[in-house]
Amino acid sequence: VSTVVGHDPRTGQPVGGGVPHTSPADLDQIVAAATAAAPRLAALGPVDRARLLTGLADALDVAGEDLVPLAMAETGLGRPRLVGEVARTSFQLRLMATAVLEGSLVEAVLDSADPTAAPPRPDLRRMLVPIGPVLVFSASNFPFAFSTLGGDTASALAAGCPVVVKAHEGHPELTARCTALARDVVSDLGLPSGTFDAVYGVESGPAAVQHPGIRACGFTGSARGGRALFDLANQRPDPIPFYGELGSINPTVVTPAAIAARGEEIAAGYVGSFTLGNGQFCTKPGLLFLPAGHGLDGRLRELVGEVESAPMLTERVRAAFDTGVGSLADRPSVRVIAAPEASPGRPGQWAAPSLLATSAAQWSSDVEALSQECFGPVSLVVEYESPGELVAALSLLEGSLTATVHAEPVDGLPVADLLAVLDRKVGRVIWNGWPTGVAVAWAMQHGGPHPVTTNALHTSVGVTATRRWLRPVTYQSVPDALLPPALREGNPLGIPRRVDGVLVLP
Ligand code: NAP
Repeated sequence: VSTVVGHDPRTGQPVGGGVPHTSPADLDQIVAAATAAAPRLAALGPVDRARLLTGLADALDVAGEDLVPLAMAETGLGRPRLVGEVARTSFQLRLMATAVLEGSLVEAVLDSADPTAAPPRPDLRRMLVPIGPVLVFSASNFPFAFSTLGGDTASALAAGCPVVVKAHEGHPELTARCTALARDVVSDLGLPSGTFDAVYGVESGPAAVQHPGIRACGFTGSARGGRALFDLANQRPDPIPFYGELGSINPTVVTPAAIAARGEEIAAGYVGSFTLGNGQFCTKPGLLFLPAGHGLDGRLRELVGEVESAPMLTERVRAAFDTGVGSLADRPSVRVIAAPEASPGRPGQWAAPSLLATSAAQWSSDVEALSQECFGPVSLVVEYESPGELVAALSLLEGSLTATVHAEPVDGLPVADLLAVLDRKVGRVIWNGWPTGVAVAWAMQHGGPHPVTTNALHTSVGVTATRRWLRPVTYQSVPDALLPPALREGNPLGIPRRVDGVLVLP
């Protein structure tokens, strides 16, 4: 049986003995178990569903000390970062549990019968119900938070859907450990074993997307992989929703007034943000629009030079980074502000940061090549001559996860115009900050218009991520005893509901 073997990016050495590829027969069995579990999970009350989520959070916190060294070995990411990521992941599971108990996620709406309305209205009661087994593709760059027990899993379980995770080849042993932990929690709570499982091997991803038992997919990863799998989901005889969260360029704009007030601080914040996690963040600021004559080249060069090289997550990520930096630096209009000195070959996949620059005029005339995400420690400064040139350049941007503006309270630039251009392009607009932190909260939006996602209507981070795994159903004139508890007279679950157009809190 062939296996998926993780490798330490720092040394290139294999980690562990590998995890067997999932055979087509095993995939069938795993999806059949998920299908069998679906009605039971859908019928779980909020208290039991919340118990599952908090049980997973508790188990992850307890196992964190053991799991972090394995994650370090498979991803090359540092201990503090991974310890923080475990805490973020268990927090996310617990936040979902509180949201399940609060109850507004099912969007219960009751319209009383009104025979005098035109047309006459029967008793109508609408809510969101779980869509069925969800396939979750994990990403390499967040081995906890966007992986086995990460955001897509937490939101799908909160919605009442069984989960099948497609393991990332960058951390197969960690996936297997987290899966075993989750399956123990499921078993201890007396839930069906099909509630949660994982599949391994690159072939199992497309096979699972096309499996009739899978009802929706969540994907975090590259634009190319996401698009290929999205197409498969749509080519099924019964197309299913595919929520792909893909690569992003995250433009950041700095006004001349902001440079004058705090240029040094902005330079340090920028370099810190685009090199964080060795640039392997989907929210990395990949473009920085600076006024021409900003005078920051020297300081930026110094700051970039102070950043140590670090291993890239996988060989594939490293190869794509080299190609991406090479093709950016080769464009005739691009100049190099900072580039790593050639260093003797090191085992593993180490990379040091680069910073490139071009003019807004050149960027605008070569926008497709100069606005591709290059995943890793590189960013492009785009120098604008006038507010008009800046706004025209920004209007050429495609969809991104974030856009950031650095400006002053009284600013010479028309900042309202900038925001009006940017908020049509992104899911999150940031004022005087940096995009790399993504808080897990009710108000978070992590998504955006094409090409950054395959569906701009939803988020993959935050409580409303559950909306992707829920489907609306209206019950018309159904007797009270046969209605789901969320819609019954007397509101037995004590949840917020809209009754005859008015929001009614419990
Ligand atoms: P990736 O290489 O696309 O891998 C993601 C998953 O998709 C893996 O399970 C991989 O399987 C599978 N896959 C990729 N291409 C495939 C194909 N053609 N056919 C079948 N399966 C395929 O991405 P990554 O290296 O994990 O992550 C890097 C990218 O993710 C960056 O572009 C980053 O910006 C993006 N990202 C986005 C977000 C967001 O929220 N928008 C968050 C984090 C990362 P194998 O592992 O088996 O090959």
